[in-house]
Order: sequence, then C-alpha cells, then structure tokens
Amino acid sequence: MSVLEQLKAGLNGLQIEDNPQIVKQKSRDFFWYSPVLKKQLDEVTGDLVVTPKSEAEVIQVLKTCYELDVPVTTRGAGTGNYGQAMPLAGGVILNLAEMNRVKEIRQGSVVVEPGAIISKIDEECRAHSGQELRLHPSTYRTATIGGFIAGGSGGVGSINWGGLRDLGNVIRLRVLTMEAEPQVLELTGEDLQKVMHAYGTNGVITEVEMPLTAAYDWVDVLVGFDAFMDGVEFADALGNQDGLLLKEIAPIAAPVPHEYFLRHQKFIRKDQSVVVCMVAPFAMDAFATFVSRNRTASILYRSDTVSEEVRKGLPPAYELAWNHTTLRGLRVDPSITYLQVLYPYPDQVEKVRTMVNLLGEEVPAHLEYVRFDGKITCFGLPIVRYTSEERLNEIIRLHEDNGCPIFNPHRYTLEEGGMKQTDEVQLAFKKLADPKGLLNPGKMIAWEDPSYDYSSNKLFLFPGLQAG
Ligand code: FAD
Repeated sequence: MSVLEQLKAGLNGLQIEDNPQIVKQKSRDFFWYSPVLKKQLDEVTGDLVVTPKSEAEVIQVLKTCYELDVPVTTRGAGTGNYGQAMPLAGGVILNLAEMNRVKEIRQGSVVVEPGAIISKIDEECRAHSGQELRLHPSTYRTATIGGFIAGGSGGVGSINWGGLRDLGNVIRLRVLTMEAEPQVLELTGEDLQKVMHAYGTNGVITEVEMPLTAAYDWVDVLVGFDAFMDGVEFADALGNQDGLLLKEIAPIAAPVPHEYFLRHQKFIRKDQSVVVCMVAPFAMDAFATFVSRNRTASILYRSDTVSEEVRKGLPPAYELAWNHTTLRGLRVDPSITYLQVLYPYPDQVEKVRTMVNLLGEEVPAHLEYVRFDGKITCFGLPIVRYTSEERLNEIIRLHEDNGCPIFNPHRYTLEEGGMKQTDEVQLAFKKLADPKGLLNPGKMIAWEDPSYDYSSNKLFLFPGLQAG
C-alpha cells in the first residue's frame, strides 16, 4: 500500500477530501498579498484535507500521521498573510473549521473550540450577557480564534488591551502534541507563550479560554485632515485621552482613503487624509468635543447619524483598517504591496514624520495606534508602490536605519517575519511536542537550521521549496 493509502486507512471514519483542486484551495492562505511570497509559494499544496469534528478525531489524525511520518499543517480559515498556513512539505491539511462551538460563557471569560469564527463568538457573548472579546483582527467576520492565537498578533481593541501575547489576553489553551500517543496539555500563565504565535509548529490548539469585556454598538467615525501629520498628531493625542473609550484609531494618508475606500469615497476628498475611529456610543459627545478643539480636524462620516440604509451599504470601520486597508488597495491596484512597521515610543510621531518625508508618495502611510508596554504608540502598515524586490529591501533598510523595526510580511518563517532571533521557549517546546518535526514544517528556522545566522540578511529557503 502507498503511504497515501495507508493514511486514508488510518483516517477511516473521518471527513477527508483528496480532490486535488479542493486540496489546493484549502492549502492556500493570503500569502499572495506579498509579491515575494507569491513567487515562492504559488505551487505549494497539501495531499489531503481532513476535517475533524472533535478532539478525539484530531488525536486519530495526529497518531496516524506520526506513525507514517506525514506532515500536518493546521488550518483555521486560511486568512494569514505571512503564508503561515501554507503546507511547505505537503501532507495533511488539518482543517478545524467544524470544531467551532462556543462551549461556555461566564462573567469575564468564554471557552470555545479553535475553529469558532471570531465574530460568531462575539454574537453569542453579546446575546448571552452583553460581553465581547477584547481584541480581534480586521478579519473578524472570517478568521477563527485558533488561527488568530497561533498566527495573528493583535488588532481592533489593541488601543486598550495591547497585543494578543500580552499577559492576560489569553487565559488558557488546550493543546495536543504530535507523538505516538499525543498528550493533551492545559497551558496557562507563562506556558501560553510556548504555542502562541508559533504558527502551529509545536502543537494543535483544541480549546481556547479568552477574557471578555463590555460590548458596545461601536460608532464608526472618519475624521478628515488636509495634512496627514495633523491627523497623526490628533490620533496620538486622542489615544492619550484618559476618559474617552475608543476601540480603533488608524490614521491613513491621502490619497489612499479616497482611492481605495470605494464605498466611503463620497465622504472623502482625494487630497484628504483620514483617521478611522471606533467610538463607544456614550462617548460620542466627548469625542465630538475633542474633534472641535482641533482646528485641523473635521468629522466626515459618523455611523450614528446616517440612515440605516446608508450605514448598511458601507463596510464597518474595522474593514478599512489593519490589513483590510491593504486588501482594499490591492483590489484597486494589484501592483501595490505593504510593510508592517513599529514606530517605537516615545518619539513615534517624529519617526513617522521622518519616514513620510523620506519616502513620500512611494510609501503612503497607514498607522494603527496601540497600547504597547503600557504606552500609546503606533504600528504602521504602509502601502508600498512596488517596483522590485531590491527596492522593497531598500525601503525596509531605510526604516530599520531610522529606528523603525520591520516585521517583514514578505517572509514565511516565524523568525524572519518577527524578531529575527530564535524563540528558545517555542523551540524547546517543539523538541518535546513534535520530536519528528512534522507540524507545519519549514516555518521555524531554529528547528530546520540551528546554526542559521539571522544577521546575514540572507533569505531562508526551506529545502522542500528549493527542490520544488
Ligand atoms: P489561519 O490562516 O488558518 O492560520 C494561521 C496560523 O495558525 C497557521 O500557521 C496555522 O497553521 C495556525 N493554526 C490555525 N489554527 C490552529 C490551531 N487550532 N492550533 C495550532 N495552530 C493553528 N492579523 C492580526 O493579527 N490582526 C489583524 O488585524 C489582521 N488583519 C488581517 C486582515 C486581512 C485582510 C488579512 C488577509 C489578514 C489579516 N491578519 C491580521 C492575519 C490573519 O487574518 C489573522 O492572523 C487571523 O487571525 C488568522 O486566522 P485564521 O483562522 O485565518 O488562521
């Protein structure tokens, strides 16, 4: 019997799919956001999709694959934009979409299965007790909670709560190891760091406990500025207002809002920059007062004063922000790309000014205000008018030379897309939890090539891809 036949026999009774077209479709995420990753990963595909309905079924998959040395790449909704969910070595796609139950809602916390869509969790928590998750990616309506924890970092709500990996933003994870007899581990406290943002390279999350906060019917507001830096100074001051409750603050430079936010276009002049906000309804008077104190700011749109019909015809504010800004841009101009930048506190505004002056029209700015180590600062997801990989690398270097670290979204490994160093905790856990290295191979350089020199500025190419 071939390995594939043995695999199918071992997975007997489970929902499997081997139609190559469907398997390829379920092997892909949003890697194509990057022209660099698009070139490298376009042909990557798994061999079989398995869709378990329970933890017991996941254990059956892991045991069978361990025995047969078959790689396993876990999949939520496949919205990762760093190629996180691309099965570089083929094998099984472990699709958790049908493990999606909200199991228990308490005062302050919720227990869910990993494949639950984030907005669905909030729907149930709101109906149950007026609560919602603290933060979510802009892919709120499509991404799973397991995929967010294993592959994401923060998003809408990070202005109040910081990033996903900050202590307290995840309470507990139930994780399976990839061994002859998979262990079931309950991780809390320090242990959570072992698997959070590890791209599923060292365990499969089968249950998640998250903290909740009070839910509101957030009001979407666009504030307009003639000069982008006036918008940045406004956003910076707004983020530091102690009494105003907001969930999102994102300054975006002209002409991006007018050119890419097609359904909001009628509210925005081509030369206008905007700050996209989500404001608690009870804070709207105070927010409008704050805007009126600033002579450069004017409210272009607020969702609480337009008719239901107008509001329903527009995407929510969070789908103008984070990586949705880029997505809207790609729909209008497929030649653009983007970067992910940190403008460190305390001189974030000056660092933004430096980069805007240096790169101008070639790199229109997009900032996301967040709480970072207790301070208000901003990340950037600037649009890049892409010409070549060499120029993209030059733009990255210019940011780094000016004290703005880049989380390179044109790399598929944990290290190159992150801090460019080995995460010893995650590596040590992988040695225990995935001794054969079968979970999402090729994504952790520290495992594949322990002597790799991150300062060499070379591109790590997974051997499986080189062969391809
Ligand atoms: P997938 O893409 O399916 O998986 C992500 C990673 O997690 C993969 O490595 C996968 O193997 C692993 N994984 C999935 N489930 C499990 C599990 N149960 N156990 C172990 N490993 C698992 N990210 C942000 O952080 N903030 C944003 O605001 C944001 N906005 C985005 C906007 C757009 C338009 C796009 C395309 C992407 C955005 N992202 C953002 C990236 C991505 O959407 C998020 O990371 C998202 O939460 C991923 O969820 P998913 O279910 O699609 O995960």
